[in-house]
Amino acid sequence: MGPPGAGKGTQGEILERSLGVPRFSTGDILRHARRQGTKQGHEAKRFMDAGELVPDEVILGIIGEALQGDDARDGFVLDGFPRTVAQAEGLDQILEDLGIHLDAILNISVEDDEIVHRLSTRLVCSSCGIVLGPYGEMNEACPVCGGTLVQRRDDGADTVRHRLVVYRKQTEPVLRWYRASGALVVDVDGLGTVEEIRDRVQAGIGT
Ligand code: AMP
Repeated sequence: MGPPGAGKGTQGEILERSLGVPRFSTGDILRHARRQGTKQGHEAKRFMDAGELVPDEVILGIIGEALQGDDARDGFVLDGFPRTVAQAEGLDQILEDLGIHLDAILNISVEDDEIVHRLSTRLVCSSCGIVLGPYGEMNEACPVCGGTLVQRRDDGADTVRHRLVVYRKQTEPVLRWYRASGALVVDVDGLGTVEEIRDRVQAGIGT
């Protein structure tokens, strides 16, 4: 967990590799659905572009399906989910039905000004979705697939500020909810290099 631009995706990918388990990012799944032109992707578009949350039932449907897959049997990393208390409650129910225990909630924190700076300079590939940070130029070819590098539509400064408001209002209560439930919440400072943060994450969750 953490605000947009905290580094959840980057650290989630590192954990996916080091733990050898799949990572389910609701944001990535929705963007993939949009690129594929599915009904779900089409419905999610207006919420995503406005920096609003996609309705809980859509998100819980995505996660419920993902966690039932064979690849999720030996563990998984959830990235960008849950983002509302209703999603956290829904996740509890899904996990109970599957007999799975949540090991830890990782919370990466970064201050607002840094987030606005990070996201307004971030580029992504419009074809394969890879995130390239501030290293490429708009409309250059993606070094991975040859697609075009663009700014995410929801990474404009105004939309980022709105996403932060949504985060404080709808997602921070989820952290309070987990803390009150006695779950292991690992807090990590998200300022520093990718490697420094990776080391903090690994120390925090004991991998
Ligand atoms: P992300 O890539 O995690 O920043 O997500 C991008 C956008 O996808 C968010 O601003 C939301 O519109 C939507 N989204 C991703 N995950 C969720 C979620 N768990 N609940 C609701 N909306 C989500």
